[in-house]
Amino acid sequence: MPENGKKTQKTGKPKRKKTLKVSNQIPPKRRREIKKALDAHEPARPEWDRLAGAKQHRFFGKRIKPGTIRQVELPLLDVKLGDSWPTPVTIIHGIRPGPTITITGGVHGDEMVGQVATSLLSQNVFTDPGRPLDPEMMAGTIRLAPVLNPPGLTRQRRYFPDGRDLNREFPGSETGSTTGRVANRVLKELITGSDYLLDLHTAARGRDNLPQVRADLAHPPSNRIARAFGIEVILDSKGPKGSMRRSAVDFGIGSLTYEGGGANLADHEAVQIAIHGILNVLRSLHVIPGNPSRPKFRLLASGSTWVRADEGGLLDLFVSRGSFVQEGEVIGRIVDPQRPSDSADIIAPARGIFICTANNPIVTPGTPVGHLLPVTRGINLIRKGLDKKTNKLIVSGSKGEPIWREDFEVEEIMIEGEWSGGGVDAEWQRDWPTASEKEHVEASEEEDAD
Ligand SMILES: [Zn+2]
Repeated sequence: MPENGKKTQKTGKPKRKKTLKVSNQIPPKRRREIKKALDAHEPARPEWDRLAGAKQHRFFGKRIKPGTIRQVELPLLDVKLGDSWPTPVTIIHGIRPGPTITITGGVHGDEMVGQVATSLLSQNVFTDPGRPLDPEMMAGTIRLAPVLNPPGLTRQRRYFPDGRDLNREFPGSETGSTTGRVANRVLKELITGSDYLLDLHTAARGRDNLPQVRADLAHPPSNRIARAFGIEVILDSKGPKGSMRRSAVDFGIGSLTYEGGGANLADHEAVQIAIHGILNVLRSLHVIPGNPSRPKFRLLASGSTWVRADEGGLLDLFVSRGSFVQEGEVIGRIVDPQRPSDSADIIAPARGIFICTANNPIVTPGTPVGHLLPVTRGINLIRKGLDKKTNKLIVSGSKGEPIWREDFEVEEIMIEGEWSGGGVDAEWQRDWPTASEKEHVEASEEEDAD
């Protein structure tokens, strides 16, 4: 991996200390790209005429009347025989016209946070009269699809039964692989016709994500909703090839991926922050009444650094998602049960915030143990956002926040550089599929794990 232009000094001795990749310049090309895109952007259509009556919303051959809610079963496969994997889509169709926002969970079957959050949003506690998603109060339409990988949910697997990752198969095709057909159908029936897409994920098995948003900040509608989410950490990335988010952006749909927590867990805090962010986006798009809340600061990140184990054994990690660490701080220790008297410390290579940490204790040399956003500015602001006892970032939506903050009051801290390894999650070991699933994995192995 080229070290961002830095040359390693040759000393003649074998290299012990790994060159640290801390990039301090947002690629100027990218910076210009984002600015140019935002400056040039004119909304694709005028703001909706809020006084006009809404039309019926059509979804999969069904008509939904303004001011009503309907659940439609969308079969993910077009078959006469065998399992069509029907998945529920709840449509909340507002009384007045507005944008269509699609919210998806469970693209990876073992990621529970999005499936729980999206399911909760379709329940009475949110949709009853006077509640936040009361269709009688809404301008626009919300489509909630909590389970985009029904067999994966049942089997608690990331992949579809053919071993493929739905989030690498978009746009798919009607005649392609099983998962490719599902992707194609999801794209045609659910994503097309949306103005915005919010796709909810967690880290894969063995690690834990700080609640964060990922979006292509050079795509104005995506940039808009990423900021509107009201969260501290926004990672600027286009998303892996074949991902639903990237495909939706290709169709001009403003898209973001929310990441929070880890696989197999209904992480309550990550669910709460997801809902908080979704309601912020809906308020910001004027779909539901009220003012969106904003974070104290935003970390707009386009660079990161990996912390790896240099020894093998059992990892005792002292940090977790959101931990703010100083350069040189001991963040964990590796012990070898076969040689109990020995241990090796893991040192933070830079000051920063962990946006993801390992929770699988088994490591070999080179195993990533954490994904660090190195922070060189805005330190005092960040300190104010930390939990004093744990030194961890308090994410908006997880604790009491002020009711209102103006956009100009939000400090933006740029974390510059490039994603090491080519993608946000590129370096993580992924959960390994079963033997029958292995065959198709290689193609998606090296990409970011959105
Ligand atoms: Zn995922």
